[in-house]
Amino acid sequence: MADEKAKNSSLPSSAATSLAHSGRGHDHAGAVNMPVYHVSTILYKTLAALRGKRPPTSYGRKGTPTSRALLESVAALERTGEDGGAVVLPSGLAAVTITLLACVKSGSHILVTDGVYAPTRIFCDTMLKDMGVETEYYDPANSEHPAALMRPETSLIVAESPSSQTFEVQDLPKLAAIAHEGGALLLADNTWATPLFCRPLELGADISIQAATKYLAGHSDLLLGVASARAPLYKKLLKQCQRLGVWTGPDDMALTLRGMRTLDVRLARHQENALALARFLAGRAEVRQVIHPALSSHPQHTLWQRDFSGASGLFAVELQTGFSENNLSAMLDNMRWFAMGYSWGGYESLIVPVEPVRQFPYLGQGSGQILRVHAGLENIDDLLADMEAGLARLAAK
Ligand SMILES: *Cc1c(COP(=O)(O)O)cnc(C)c1O
Repeated sequence: MADEKAKNSSLPSSAATSLAHSGRGHDHAGAVNMPVYHVSTILYKTLAALRGKRPPTSYGRKGTPTSRALLESVAALERTGEDGGAVVLPSGLAAVTITLLACVKSGSHILVTDGVYAPTRIFCDTMLKDMGVETEYYDPANSEHPAALMRPETSLIVAESPSSQTFEVQDLPKLAAIAHEGGALLLADNTWATPLFCRPLELGADISIQAATKYLAGHSDLLLGVASARAPLYKKLLKQCQRLGVWTGPDDMALTLRGMRTLDVRLARHQENALALARFLAGRAEVRQVIHPALSSHPQHTLWQRDFSGASGLFAVELQTGFSENNLSAMLDNMRWFAMGYSWGGYESLIVPVEPVRQFPYLGQGSGQILRVHAGLENIDDLLADMEAGLARLAAK
């Protein structure tokens, strides 16, 4: 599958330029964009061709011009190196689970962050358990913790930085050192930051995962996952996907690549809007605390400063205690621009109450309701006015 690999050596070094130009190095009747290849069967003109060396596109699920354009772009952003690359999976969750399967065998022990995306935890506690793989959870706020849990049979550390819902930032270089010292790999779910704001492979991780459903695709209209690695692990992931037969429809791949063309400008606005909202909320009496890695009040703010070059649009707010469910409904049911819905990373603003699996780490007992906010691309004054009116409804007697 040599044709699948990232040709990022020929791509420009700036991420923004790479996003505009990667995956376009072919002639398609002069069209700017790669046409979408809907294909299963590839025809061979002669018996010799059929029996000879496989062409770059030999069968729909073995890689097409559409998948290669997307994966070259992802690999360039993740900096997988010339012999590394990215694989495509049908969802972000599939990117996590199928990559996990490539890194364990019966009898393996793995360490997973306690702040992991909840469906990843369910996969570990059910399917991996049934396969004879033991999962132990480590404290995402203490990057030394995994060192104490390592065993000879530990094959993998699974990090997610920042955590889903609780937003602890992890020390990826330290986790990589712990993993590698024990002969294990480090996998990082990097969906929050995207490879524009954090590049786990450069920080020592072996595999970087994106739920492309979120910012890469960016328009709340599809599910897709990607996993990126350097050589030789990339080859192993590719084989794993081929063996399992996982593949994704060409329209979703093309839409994801289309989303990536504007990732840089979208993330800049998501970041700006989220920070303005976070600062506004931090100053409000109804709010007990705002949990956003780019605020100096965040417990791992210095780690975020060291390893990330930006913050995306998702953060959390803990309300003061004592607001009734009725008042919370009055706030959330009547928002003008913020809608309630799961997932995030699209252009629209979202707000949902969340109940983290993990004890919210920055407080003692009796915590207030936690709201997860996704700042979309709307005008910030409109968003601030909506939030202000919402808090007034929350606090109304
Ligand atoms: C959303 C998400 C996923 C799963 O992505 P889907 O495409 O919805 O399956 C995985 N990891 C993280 C961190 C996520 O936020």
